[in-house]
Amino acid sequence: MKKHACRLLSHISAWLDDLLFPQDVVCLCCDHALGSDAKNGVCGGCLRALDALARRQEELEKQGVLPVPHGIRYIHAAFVYEGQARMLIRRLKYESVRRAALALAQQMVFLPSDEEEIIVPVPTDKGRERKRGFNQSSVLARHIGNTLGMQVTEALVRVDVRRPQTGLTGREREKNLVGCMAASEAVSGKRVLLVDDVCTTGATLREAARALLAAGAAGVGVFTAARAARAADEPRDPFAAGEILRK
Ligand SMILES: [Zn+2]
Repeated sequence: MKKHACRLLSHISAWLDDLLFPQDVVCLCCDHALGSDAKNGVCGGCLRALDALARRQEELEKQGVLPVPHGIRYIHAAFVYEGQARMLIRRLKYESVRRAALALAQQMVFLPSDEEEIIVPVPTDKGRERKRGFNQSSVLARHIGNTLGMQVTEALVRVDVRRPQTGLTGREREKNLVGCMAASEAVSGKRVLLVDDVCTTGATLREAARALLAAGAAGVGVFTAARAARAADEPRDPFAAGEILRK
């Protein structure tokens, strides 16, 4: 009964969202009216800012200063986790604005991959997924799969309820996450493209990769919408803080 009520609330909130913030009328990043240069719900000015964040991320990856966790072949992010990119992720993740995924995914499809065979989204905590109405990584993964013509498989599941990662140090995160995910046999022998919204310390991605490789995946590469330069940039989760139901 409670589950149904949550789902109903999430549908109503999505409907209210469309009513209050009609698609293609105001910018998802700055709330200004969209002009003729807008795309995917983002105004021309914010698109240019996003482009600069994408170029900065590309530059950081070229410099090789961003670590790649053990077990993962590469991590590519579309944007530095700041400004407009951070706002789009906030809309998607904490305000349940599903269409905010589009501008993020449209940049992610240009990231260099290595002929991966299937896309697997990082699973989210089920309680929070119910509040949000969807898993933000699955929404990103489906946009990417549709554009690149690749199959998306929800092969990873959370097998244990852990403390929220927010506020934990890198080492605490590692310990908190060990054994919290399992992968189905669908990934056996396959090169997997793992998709997530933000990479901070990489602890979640490392645990997801461990589960995929344990299930027989031939290799794991990662696309994320954004990458935080420091662990301190971890998005604050208002759900975990109990501050908001939705907005
Ligand atoms: Zn804008």
